[in-house]
Amino acid sequence: MSKSVFTSPSSVKARLRGVVFDMDGTLTVPAIDFPAMYKAVLGEEEYLSIRKRNPSGIDILHQIENWSPDKQRRAYQIIADFEKQGLDRLEIMPGASELCAFLDSRSIRRGLITRNVKAAVDLFHERFGRTFSPALSREFRPYKPDPGPLLHICSTWEIQPNEVMMIGDSLKDDVACGKRAGAFTCLLDETGRYESPEYEHVEYKPDYKVSSLADIHSILQADFELKP
Ligand SMILES: [Mg+2]
Repeated sequence: MSKSVFTSPSSVKARLRGVVFDMDGTLTVPAIDFPAMYKAVLGEEEYLSIRKRNPSGIDILHQIENWSPDKQRRAYQIIADFEKQGLDRLEIMPGASELCAFLDSRSIRRGLITRNVKAAVDLFHERFGRTFSPALSREFRPYKPDPGPLLHICSTWEIQPNEVMMIGDSLKDDVACGKRAGAFTCLLDETGRYESPEYEHVEYKPDYKVSSLADIHSILQADFELKP
């Protein structure tokens, strides 16, 4: 029997023209104690009850959306205090510089979407020494997991969402945002927390899962045609 000379469609590499990153826990080492922040905002009892109803994670901005202006202002102050502490400890994620250098060497665009504030993005840019553009922070509405910010970046770049990869450490925010926009997604799961059975039946699953940013550039080279 002769060997088939046909190229199967699956061996045709998808074109990749841009990569969009999450910031906290993806480009920076996690420095915010989220459970402590949620507890401080919601109170212990409310926190436990909301966590029970949302096993895949709490969306704190959503939880406080309909609070009275006074209560909401206090909540935002608590969140800001925790974020400020996080900023003081800001550290660049291992592998982030190398991955960005690789993308730059191929002229692949780099964007950023975070639910953190613009001041945090500014500090990150300063410490990292490379700029992501566009970089959308919480001030851009709607925020992740809405696909809006990613679609906005794609239209700014004038490229299609299926030519972009969203990389982040949150299944409910980053992967959901990426999949809803129609992009490729890569989940950074450093600790293996998403191996837990509770994540088996989630609506949006990542195309790729890595335990380190260092694993991404071989995926990009193997599976994609990197062409700006
Ligand atoms: Mg994150």
